[in-house]
Amino acid sequence: MTLHIPFDNTYAALPSGFYSAQPPVAVKAPNLLAFNQALATQLGIVADPAERAEVFAGNKVPEGAAPLAQLYAGHQFGNFNPQLGDGRALLLGEVIDQSGLRRDIQLKGSGPTPYSRMGDGRAWLGPVLREYVVSEAMHALGIPTTRALAAVASGEPIWREQGALPGAVLTRVASSHLRVGTFQVFAHRGQVEELKTLTDYAIARHYPQAEGPMGLLAAVCAVQAELIAAWMSVGFIHGVMNTDNCAISGETIDYGPCAFMDAYDEARVFSSIDQQGRYAFGNQPRIAVWNCAQLATALIQQMDDADAAIEEATTIVHAMPGQLQAAWLKRFGAKLGLAEPTSEDQKLIEDLLALMQSNGADFTNSFAALDTDRAQDQFTDRAAFDAWHSRWQARIASEPEPTALMARSNPQIIPRNHRMEQMIEAAVAGDMAPFQREMIALATPFDPASDPDLKRPPTQQEIVPATFCG
Ligand code: AMP
Ligand code: MG
Ligand code: MG
Repeated sequence: MTLHIPFDNTYAALPSGFYSAQPPVAVKAPNLLAFNQALATQLGIVADPAERAEVFAGNKVPEGAAPLAQLYAGHQFGNFNPQLGDGRALLLGEVIDQSGLRRDIQLKGSGPTPYSRMGDGRAWLGPVLREYVVSEAMHALGIPTTRALAAVASGEPIWREQGALPGAVLTRVASSHLRVGTFQVFAHRGQVEELKTLTDYAIARHYPQAEGPMGLLAAVCAVQAELIAAWMSVGFIHGVMNTDNCAISGETIDYGPCAFMDAYDEARVFSSIDQQGRYAFGNQPRIAVWNCAQLATALIQQMDDADAAIEEATTIVHAMPGQLQAAWLKRFGAKLGLAEPTSEDQKLIEDLLALMQSNGADFTNSFAALDTDRAQDQFTDRAAFDAWHSRWQARIASEPEPTALMARSNPQIIPRNHRMEQMIEAAVAGDMAPFQREMIALATPFDPASDPDLKRPPTQQEIVPATFCG
């Protein structure tokens, strides 16, 4: 038997008030459903196929691991919850990957912790496979994200609204699990020493060039602005942008009732719990700014000169809408083949999106078809599209390589929501073929030759109106 994970743990060396140490709770009959060999290799992990199920179900704690549940707080749908924490996850430890980056290895669905509140500490197969597929698809799209290393069925039933469901454990990898909410918990409690320790830790781990708490704030605002623009450019809706689901690293984290849009709609919401549309597609930029304002509020608690800190933090947060706008313009400009989009190009982009909205055009397929003779077919108002198309043609005439830029900016394939539901339904019935098929196709999302059936928007019967938390 060989099992080696080259742990190099730093979080466990932080003061004990930062976490609660405990081993995972073993599951009944672990069965490995998916394993990301390429990622394992990158992390220096050696695990015999025979051992993987046990290790990544949490039944066998690998040598060098220091399992712990991290403490954090967070604003959930705008309301502050002073204590959340990993209620169904455990950080096993950290490794230094082949490129020298420190990465967390975390089990999700590994049993109750002191932070579980009313929850069972578990996850069911559906959200585990959804996170596996969507996070890996996000990575293939070139968007910062946590990764999926393994999915193991637990052999135990999980009770949810829908009834009894098969349980599962996901192993995910992140450049850290530090959240805006990690800062909020100490700021709210007035634990200034802990807040300073956390700030120093975050700077050393993620932004060694950043100077002090305000330097950290500026760095996080910048990566969040880039991240949200990237989400928008592929039609991604996170669904639960609470401050505890907002990573300091700028990676997409905590995939819950997330979804990619089919027909373009600014106001699109999938999450069944987002009744007010707080986290609707088009609201994501302002929510990211709001979340960063909460980080600012937390970070300020450790500053000696409060007035000066407030002024500086305000300037930093107020710069974020401009950063978001610039990142958005760059992303959407590229989708139209514009290497250096100007503020005048903004109108061209917005007019296309308005047409897509009023025509119910498929977001992904419209952009993918834009420079083909099938573009018109995506729109019901062909005359209006033709008029827009002429303006666009005139604009790109002066572009050096619009076709190549568009080919790498417009994915051909995304994890469509109805396909995720079908994939989950099949997996529950013991058929992993749809999962495999999605994983293969989504590994090369810009390939025009990719699986044509997976590119198809849902039929009326296939439309999934809402997504649920796990
Ligand atoms: P989320 O919005 O899914 O990221 O979760 C919000 C909080 O609820 C986090 O503290 C989670 O750890 C916790 N949580 C979610 N589901 C469960 C569960 N089944 N058991 C225990 N805690 C949970
Ligand atoms: Mg949360
Ligand atoms: Mg969360």
